[in-house]
Amino acid sequence: MSSKFPPPPVGLGSKVPPPPAVGSKPPPALGSKPPAPGAPPAAASSKLDSKIPPGPLGEKWTTYRSKVPLVNPANKRSIEIIVVGSGLAGASAAASLAELGYKVKCFCFQDSPRRAHSIAAQGGINAAKNYQNDGDSVFRLFYDTIKGGDYRAREANVHRLAEVSVNIIDQCVAQGVPFAREYGGLLANRSFGGTQVQRTFYAAGQTGQQLLLGAYSALQRQVGLGSVAMYARHEMLDLVMIDGKCRGIIARDLITGKLERHFGHAVLLCTGGYGNVFFLSTNAMGSNVTAAWKAHKRGAFFGNPCYTQIHPTCIPVSGDHQSKLTLMSESLRNDGRIWVPKKQNDTRDPRQIPEDERDYYLERRYPAFGNLVPRDVASRAAKERCDAGFGVGTSKMAVYLDYADAIKRYGTTKAKQLNIANPDAETVRRLGKEVVAEKYGNLFAMYEKITGENPYEVPMRIYPAVHYTMGGLWVDYELMTTVQGLYALGEANFSDHGANRLGASALMQGLADGYFVIPYTIGNYLSNEIRVKPISTDHEAFVAAERGVQETLDRMINIKGSKSVDHFHKALGKIMWNECGMARNPQGLQRAINDIRALREEFWRDVRIPGVANELNLELEKAGRVADFIELGELMCVDALQREESCGGHFREDHQTEDGEAQRHDDKFMYVAAWEHKGTGSFQLHKEPLNYEVVKPSQRSYK
Ligand SMILES: Cc1cc2nc3c(=O)[nH]c(=O)nc-3n(C[C@H](O)[C@H](O)[C@H](O)COP(=O)(O)OP(=O)(O)OC[C@H]3O[C@@H](n4cnc5c(N)ncnc54)[C@H](O)[C@@H]3O)c2cc1C
Repeated sequence: MSSKFPPPPVGLGSKVPPPPAVGSKPPPALGSKPPAPGAPPAAASSKLDSKIPPGPLGEKWTTYRSKVPLVNPANKRSIEIIVVGSGLAGASAAASLAELGYKVKCFCFQDSPRRAHSIAAQGGINAAKNYQNDGDSVFRLFYDTIKGGDYRAREANVHRLAEVSVNIIDQCVAQGVPFAREYGGLLANRSFGGTQVQRTFYAAGQTGQQLLLGAYSALQRQVGLGSVAMYARHEMLDLVMIDGKCRGIIARDLITGKLERHFGHAVLLCTGGYGNVFFLSTNAMGSNVTAAWKAHKRGAFFGNPCYTQIHPTCIPVSGDHQSKLTLMSESLRNDGRIWVPKKQNDTRDPRQIPEDERDYYLERRYPAFGNLVPRDVASRAAKERCDAGFGVGTSKMAVYLDYADAIKRYGTTKAKQLNIANPDAETVRRLGKEVVAEKYGNLFAMYEKITGENPYEVPMRIYPAVHYTMGGLWVDYELMTTVQGLYALGEANFSDHGANRLGASALMQGLADGYFVIPYTIGNYLSNEIRVKPISTDHEAFVAAERGVQETLDRMINIKGSKSVDHFHKALGKIMWNECGMARNPQGLQRAINDIRALREEFWRDVRIPGVANELNLELEKAGRVADFIELGELMCVDALQREESCGGHFREDHQTEDGEAQRHDDKFMYVAAWEHKGTGSFQLHKEPLNYEVVKPSQRSYK
C-alpha cells in the first residue's frame, strides 16, 4: 500500500522554486492528504520486494549462498563496478570485488581512502565469537540487535549479520588488525550497551582506524594489481540511468572542478550516514547525504529517514560558534558510572557531593542493564534529568560520567596481582589509573584536551548528541536499492539496526556488507549482465546527466546572495534538533516542515558562494551538500510525523508509557517506511511490513 504525504498546511509549498534537481520531473501538485491518524496495518507495497529467501531463519543465508547464480572468472574480467565510498563498507567491498576479478573504480571525496569517516570509530566491533564463554551465540547477537532496534528491523538480514560477524574478526586478524588481547593471547572483549555479554572486539579507542587500515591495505593491494582504479578527491553528483538501470555516475574532480562521466555495470553507494543534517554531530565534517539523495531523486526509495541515533556520551555543546561535537566512546560506560546530584541546581564540585546525595539514575531505573542500557534509553534518561533541573556544569545540560569507583576497583585488583599487601589509597589510585589509561587512555586525553579538565580526577561531563543514522537508502536482502543495478552498503543503507543501533554494530554491518554479503548477492544481478558491453560515456544519458549537474553548480554559484552556506546549515540544524531531535511531537514537526521549506526558498535566493566552479572551491562543495540536507530534513520530519508511535531513537512525546518509555504501536506501524521522491517537497510512502517469525516483539525492557 502506498499513501501520499501532504504539503505543510501553510501555502509555502507553491512559492518555493524547486532547486534544479538533476533529471527530476516537475514537482507534482502539493495538495494530497496525510495518512489518517491510526492508519491501518501495513500492507506490502508492490514496488518493494525484500527478496528474503525462503526457509528457516538460521538456514536462509547458507541456502541462498549455495544457490545464488555465479559469474565465471572470465566474465568477471569484463564487468565494471563503481564503488562510491572508501570507508569500511566501500573499501571492503571494492577490495573483495576486485579480488574476485571484477574491474572496480572506487571514489572518495577525501584526499585518501584512509581519511573516510570510519577512521573516527572508537569503541569496537561486535562479533558472536563467545570467546568469553559468557553465553554468547549467533542467536543471542541476532536477538539483542532485533530487540535493541525496537523490533523495526528485518529478521533475515539481522540473522545473516550475526552469522557473518564471526568471519569479520578472522578476516581482520588475518589482515593484521591489532585487536586488544588478553594475557594468554586470545582476543579481548568488552561490553557495549543493550547486551549482557562481552562481545565487543577493540583496538584501544581507535578500532575504526585500525579496521580501516586493514581494509585500506586490502584495497591498495588491488590498486597495485591494477584491479581497482582509485579516484580520491572526486565527488559523485549524479547517477546515470539507461533503460531503467543504473549505468554510471557523474563525478566532480574537486581539485580542478571538472565533471567526469564513469560507466559501470553496477554502482555501489557506500557513502556513509547523514547525521550532519543536524549541523552539530559527532560525524566527520565532510559526511553528507548527497550521493544517497541524488540516488533518491533517481528512484531509490529512502528507508526510515527519521530514525536518528542520539549518542548519550558526548562532550556537551559549549557555545554558538561550535561546529563539531565530540563523542566519548560508549566503551566508557563499561566502567564509568553515570549520575547527577539528587538536589536540583547543585553547584558543588562533584567530588564534594557525598555518595548518598548522588542519583545514579540509570542504575536506579534499569537495574538489569544499569549503565549499559542502549543508547536511546540512556540519552532520554539524561535529557529527562536535565530537563527536570538536575543537570550539571554551566549549561546545566550535562550529567557526570565518573571513573572514581573504577579506578579504585582496578587499583585494588592490580595491587593484589602485584602482591602488595594493604596498599594505601594513593597506591591503589595510581595502579587503578594505570589500568584505566591502558583501556581508555586516548579517550581520556582527548577529553582533557577539549575541556581542560582531567577526567582521572574530576568526573567527565557528558550530554547526548547526534551520532548515527539508522535511516538510509532502502535495500532488499541483496543490498540492491529500488533502482536496478544500484546498491547501498554500510551506514548509507537503511541498515539492519531498526529504530536504534546497538554500540559497535555499525562497523560490524559495514564490513559484513562489504566483505561477506555483496560479493555473493551482486552475482544474482551481474550474472544477467555478462552480455552487456561497456556503454560509451558519449551516450545521451551521460551527456544529459552531466549537463544537469553543471546547471545546478552554475545556478548555485551565480546566486551571489548575502548569506554564507554555514548560515543555512546552522539554521537547518537548529530546526532539526529542536523539532526532530531527541523528542518529537506533531506540532513541532509540522512547524519544522514549514520552516525548512522557507529555508529552502531562502537558500536558493540568497546563498553566497565565493569563487568559481571550475577550481577547488570548498564553499561550492558545501553548498551542494547543504542544499541536499535541506531537502532531506523535510523528508525526515515528514517521516517522523507519519510514524505515530515511539520506537528506538524516534521518540514521540505523544506516544510514551506512564514511566516515560517509548510506546510502539505494532498493530499499525510494524513496517519499514520507504519513501519515493515525487519532486521537490513531495514524497510518496511505501510500506514494507515486518514479519517476525522467530522473535516475539514485546515492550522493550532493560529493567
Ligand atoms: C565518533 C564516532 C565513533 C564511532 N565509533 C563506532 C564504534 O566504536 N563502533 C561502531 O560500530 N561504530 C562506530 N561509529 C559508527 C561508524 O563509525 C560508522 O557508522 C561507519 O564507520 C560508517 O562507515 P561507512 O563505510 O558506511 O561510511 P564512511 O566511513 O562515512 O565512508 C563514507 C565514504 O563515502 C565517501 N563519499 C561520501 N559521499 C560521496 C560522494 N558524493 N562522492 C564520492 N565519495 C563519497 C567518503 O569519501 C567516504 O570514503 C562511530 C561513529 C562516530 C561518528
